[in-house]
Amino acid sequence: MNNSLQKIDLKNLSPSELGDSIRSFGKERYRSLQILRWLYQKGAHAIDGMTNLSEKFRQDLSEVSYISTLHPLYVEQAKDGTKKFLFQLEDGNRIESVLIPDKKRLTLCLSTQVGCALGCRFCLTGKMGWKRDLMTSEILNQILAVRETLTDNTSITNIVLMGMGEPLANYKNTLKAIELMTNPDAFKFSSRRITLSTVGLLPELEQLAQEKISFRLAISLNASDEEVRSYLMPINRRYPLKKVLEACRNFPLRARTRITFEYVLVEGVNDSPQDAKRLLKILTGIPSKVNLIPLNEAPGILFKRSSEEKVIRFQEILMEGGLTSIVRASKGAEISAACGQLQGKSLKLGVRS
Ligand code: SAH
Ligand code: SF4
Repeated sequence: MNNSLQKIDLKNLSPSELGDSIRSFGKERYRSLQILRWLYQKGAHAIDGMTNLSEKFRQDLSEVSYISTLHPLYVEQAKDGTKKFLFQLEDGNRIESVLIPDKKRLTLCLSTQVGCALGCRFCLTGKMGWKRDLMTSEILNQILAVRETLTDNTSITNIVLMGMGEPLANYKNTLKAIELMTNPDAFKFSSRRITLSTVGLLPELEQLAQEKISFRLAISLNASDEEVRSYLMPINRRYPLKKVLEACRNFPLRARTRITFEYVLVEGVNDSPQDAKRLLKILTGIPSKVNLIPLNEAPGILFKRSSEEKVIRFQEILMEGGLTSIVRASKGAEISAACGQLQGKSLKLGVRS
């Protein structure tokens, strides 16, 4: 029986919220740190298993709270080692996470929303529209569920918030999740190993600049002028490129960190040498690097990926202009696990959109 709906999911509480609720039981603060370790380091599935808490306290806690978990419905692996995990949430909605091995790194790409409201024309997640925001627990449970599938000598080294959804449109829950990812009693990830990718929602970017929390920032640029960006990304009409770049210029960056600009290369739309030259110009003065992502084609997406020659020429122009840029190999495309291909469904499961 699941009466979890009336109870608080412990994974939806920030460290300080958890501390406050533990104090309301008349318990010391360090008890909440013990609970954090159970939840995120040991991956406890039940309050009753937290054996360094008294039985009475565990019982009291269980009356008002519970621990949610997530289990993959389906895992698909591509030849390059990329794995896509499909999860079903309590309300039946489905999301995906992608695990990407690359040399010494093992990067997990997390979803922050079911679908996305922003409707970029090249993105399948955008095509499905917005269903709802994920709770903090649902963001974190993707890490825990994937971690459980790993063998003892492997661990997730990097987290990227680049799966389904626009993380800054789910601001509060995403930031709380990042706080738990970096908390020394929770996941203990270094903030340098967490990257949040956003189209650059201006009010949220400005709010973010005031926060103490730190992580790497990636901005999805995808064009070097207003017209093309508005065509590819309708949100550009509300938050234009010029203003997004201004916010980036003012964004407080720690020493030696740079903003990553993501640029999906779409044949004949944004991949000319002129585009590359304009990109160089508009990024002047911002500590930046550019990730070039040749478009992942998909049924229902109008566009084609740029030819290899065009990709190479584009990159050369950026490099000649002194801008670090890499071409991001699209991993996992054959299982629709690559950027922009996540829709929360798997053909093999017979799930239809
Ligand atoms: N909503 C956020 C994060 C998720 S999308 C954002 O847009 O930044 C993550 C990245 O995938 C973005 O940089 C986006 O431009 C890219 N992307 C989307 N669709 C793609 C496609 N079909 N091929 C390649 N990259 C794509
Ligand atoms: Fe949403 Fe990002 Fe896809 Fe645009 S690219 S529709 S913002 S998920």
